[in-house]
Amino acid sequence: MHQMIRKVFLIASITAVSAMNLFPAFAEGAAGQAVTAVEAVSEEQPKDEHSKVSFSDQSNPAPVSPSDSGYVDAGPGIEKKEPEPEKPKEISLGIFKITGYCNCEQCSGGHNLTYSGTVPAPNHTVSADLSRYPLGTKLKVNGTVYTVEDKGSSVNGNILDIFYSTHEEAVAKGTYNAEVFLVQE
Ligand SMILES: [Zn+2]
Repeated sequence: MHQMIRKVFLIASITAVSAMNLFPAFAEGAAGQAVTAVEAVSEEQPKDEHSKVSFSDQSNPAPVSPSDSGYVDAGPGIEKKEPEPEKPKEISLGIFKITGYCNCEQCSGGHNLTYSGTVPAPNHTVSADLSRYPLGTKLKVNGTVYTVEDKGSSVNGNILDIFYSTHEEAVAKGTYNAEVFLVQE
């Protein structure tokens, strides 16, 4: 009985020792593999960094050209400022007395054409003081841009006579005061 117990203990102790020997071996092996893995990685990493550096060195000139094209794209922002002066500038001429007329005998004395020889048109033709606003001058009244094409004996200074297609409309629009803008194109 005692020998049997000793044998079992021996076997158990041997197994334990062999297990103790095996585990460190596993641990060393694992450590060794880990080290070699780390070494392998650490050996590859410098290569990657080298290749990355070389790639970044090669790609460095590339980002410069996109940024250059970015500057080119920013160019139209400056060009956008150029069309702005092309837009009509409106300069206030102050408050005018606005009257209306048509091409009837009473309004125009039977003249079918304007002083400038054009056929008068509503929302277009205006009579003005030509000494101030020569023929062709663009004048804006209440959102409508008129062209100075006519003159009148009573149209002097800050007075504009707007052409209407009918005498009734000219009378209906009446006489009123409005701010007039000089439209420069
Ligand atoms: Zn009339």
